[in-house]
Amino acid sequence: MPDPAAGHKPPTCIAVLTSGGDASGMNAAVRGVVRTCLHRGVTPYLVREGYKGLVSGGDLLREAESGDVGGIMHLGGTVIGTARSEGFRTRDGRRTAAGNLVERGIDALVVVGGDGSLMGANIFRQEWPELLDELVEEGRIDQETADAHPVLRLAGLVGSIDNDMFGTDMTIGADTALHRITDAMDALHSTAASHQRSFVVEVMGRRCGYLALMSSIAAGANWVLIPEQPADADTWKQEMCDALRAGRGQGRRQNMVVLAEGAEDTNGEPITADRVKQVLEEELGEDTRITILGHVQRGGAPSAFDRWLSTLLGNRAVEQLLDAGPDEEPQLIGIRENRVISSPLMENVEKTQAVATAIDEGRYDDAMAMRGGSFVDAWSTFHTLVQAAPSDPAPGTRPLRLGILHGGGPAPGMNTAVRAAVRLAIDDGHTVLGIQNGFRGLSLGRVEELDWMSVTGWTVLGGAEFGTSRSIPDEERLKGIAAQIEEHAIDGLLVIGGFAAYRSAYAVHYARRQYEALDLPIVCLPASINNDLPGSEISIGADTALNSIISDVDKIKQSAVASRRVFVVEVMGHDCGYLALMSGLSSGAERVYLPEEGITLDELAEDVAALRQGFSAGKRLGLVIRGEGSDPVYTTGFIHALFARESQDMFDVRNSILGHVQQGGAPTPFDRIQATRLARRCIEYLVEHASEGAPGSAMVGLKGGKVRFTELTYLPDLIRRDAQRPKEQAWMEVRPVAQIMARPASESVGR
Ligand code: ADP
Repeated sequence: MPDPAAGHKPPTCIAVLTSGGDASGMNAAVRGVVRTCLHRGVTPYLVREGYKGLVSGGDLLREAESGDVGGIMHLGGTVIGTARSEGFRTRDGRRTAAGNLVERGIDALVVVGGDGSLMGANIFRQEWPELLDELVEEGRIDQETADAHPVLRLAGLVGSIDNDMFGTDMTIGADTALHRITDAMDALHSTAASHQRSFVVEVMGRRCGYLALMSSIAAGANWVLIPEQPADADTWKQEMCDALRAGRGQGRRQNMVVLAEGAEDTNGEPITADRVKQVLEEELGEDTRITILGHVQRGGAPSAFDRWLSTLLGNRAVEQLLDAGPDEEPQLIGIRENRVISSPLMENVEKTQAVATAIDEGRYDDAMAMRGGSFVDAWSTFHTLVQAAPSDPAPGTRPLRLGILHGGGPAPGMNTAVRAAVRLAIDDGHTVLGIQNGFRGLSLGRVEELDWMSVTGWTVLGGAEFGTSRSIPDEERLKGIAAQIEEHAIDGLLVIGGFAAYRSAYAVHYARRQYEALDLPIVCLPASINNDLPGSEISIGADTALNSIISDVDKIKQSAVASRRVFVVEVMGHDCGYLALMSGLSSGAERVYLPEEGITLDELAEDVAALRQGFSAGKRLGLVIRGEGSDPVYTTGFIHALFARESQDMFDVRNSILGHVQQGGAPTPFDRIQATRLARRCIEYLVEHASEGAPGSAMVGLKGGKVRFTELTYLPDLIRRDAQRPKEQAWMEVRPVAQIMARPASESVGR
């Protein structure tokens, strides 16, 4: 008889496999699983070649050490391999797989794959007790072994570039795919503009328009076709041509149409790239080229997000398996509302398949609704932004005059936010005034009316076209600002920027008691690479800076292949450790120094001792990341000198201060998409408050993945007095995982 208590024992061995289509970020997930197992005293196993390895066993199913998953996080695809396995689709194959696992004492499995792989895993789990009985009958295992493993515990992570799964807001690989697509579209834009050409770009997504829609917003495409919203069979050609023709009429030099590979019209007729090209050539006489991005979208180095998210998911999967009771349903580990969560695996697989069925059956509105609110919002925002000229204002709209300006350091995504705000406000019937050089410029009257086409191409531009200023207005300047607001009859202000922008906006808002003109709605949109602003868990620009850092760190690491070397890398962030912690998590740093924690001499001594121990055990490379504001005395130079002096010739030390490259560059897709999303909500806020004569002022932000407003009057209560950062920092929750990944076990020699 099986011992009923046996099932309550947490697993002592956990195996991980990757299956189905490969996705960038799978390696980080596997590393996360292995390192967390080692940290928790569980034996990790790597299954190579997906379910094929599970069925074959032997060398394809081997115990893993920390070093086996060292130096893999920056690689695309999956280093442990994935394969389609017909064997696993059969019961015989699954029985053999069960035997291979149970012989090694494994009764817990992490599967990283798409809905097919996860469904297969669930079937395996359901059959497990019977499979073990059969193995006992066959004499392959004894009854005692079967009794010791009465259930198979299962956790699923979604590896799929399409972002097509319920249970997680983002699948592993989707962000990297967006990077690849957006880079390609940026490149096509310049060549298309040079020749005044049209491009038709086909992206992946048979039943999911996520990549097509989001890349179209991110790269400023001019038309998009997705499976969830099939184009009206009678009118789509006309609608598309009208929109593109109007753009040409306004002087646009290129046209770009994006289509998901599963795009159809309402008759269920596929809309192919060739079909679109033919329409553009015949109806518009456009010189049209087709680019099918194909497998390029899958490959390449994972984005920072795919590295840190997958690490967190792998970590949680192990914790989930260790906590799960014997009767607990298998769980899908995903990210929702910006938190790692688990939810019943099969419920999610079924809902995912329901969307596909809805599309197949032509219930498109259902399919769209099932994709969720932000997808629907993105669809509508896209359609406003691509118009060549504003719509006629709705009757009864009171035209407002809205000013837009920056403050603080430049952040990638500022221009993207401006473009969206300008177009959305003009489309709504308002006048938009661009203000040069922040509040300083405003006090000097640097105000200019913007038209629809004045922001063409701004989606991709890093920096801040309007210029910015770090100075906080004093008495004199406030007076000037009030006078200019009056002179230009400004009804509301959108302030896009960092800490100085927020403090300036607060000063202006506060001075409304003194100057009546300042009693107008002001809304602050967080744009700072430091991610140090209150009212938002993430600010625009931070993702771009993070990606810039990890791509530099990848290169720095490569430069040390042959030597035994420790790199001390200093990253920006001022008094906020976001960039340091997340780049450490995304690049496999052994140690991260944060302004939030400071640095002590004792810790430095411990760290150098740990490095010496690591190198004496065969380590070849060490990486330490220091946030620039971590300590005024223990500077990057100091740490470099200390480590070099104390290395006892086991390693040499180099430092690298990454500097202003982190502030520049084209914004990442995430920063472009969120900048657009927040700008839309800011314009709505200003219009609502200015129209009602209710001059509330606020900071907009993303909290739990949703757009939220916080009253500007709370600013002083939400920030620290002694440092430039908010009191609440949700991302600090991931700090313990970074520590586990760096030093999962004392014998760790990985990186
Ligand atoms: P994805 O996981 O990306 O959806 P597939 O659907 O091709 O990819 O599944 C990958 C592998 O998962 C298959 O080759 C097979 O081994 C296994 N698999 C998929 N569906 C099932 C199933 N219904 N039963 C058993 N195994 C399955």
